[in-house]
Amino acid sequence: MHDCLFCKIINKEIESDIVYETDNVLVFKDINPQAPIHYLLVPKKHISSIMEIEKLGFPEIHELLNTIGRIASENDLEKDGFRVVTNTGSGAGQSVFHLHFHILGKRKFNWPPG
Ligand code: AMP
Ligand code: ZN
Repeated sequence: MHDCLFCKIINKEIESDIVYETDNVLVFKDINPQAPIHYLLVPKKHISSIMEIEKLGFPEIHELLNTIGRIASENDLEKDGFRVVTNTGSGAGQSVFHLHFHILGKRKFNWPPG
């Protein structure tokens, strides 16, 4: 059994503030928010990053991406804009090696990100 923080959150071995849950995906609040809305969207199946997305089935991938729009709508993020980030590899700041999308909203964003 691998030691994965987000698998423990998914299995409710570690507490989190859950925003949305289905059989395939979980959305919970980031413990160290970088924006007024800062959620983490994860597939319940463990894959380490976007580089392993082919290990998910099409229905799971479809649901995962659809959930971004659902969460944006539910939190009224579309009008002012929001950002979805998936850090991939420690060089890009990935610290938890279970695929996750940061969903960030209700703050100003710069581009390029720097
Ligand atoms: P990343 O650095 O892209 O891998 O993102 C990992 C994210 O997980 C960071 O933004 C952390 O703040 C967040 N995080 C770490 N531990 C927890 C936790 N127990 N509950 C919620 N979010 C967490
Ligand atoms: Zn995991």
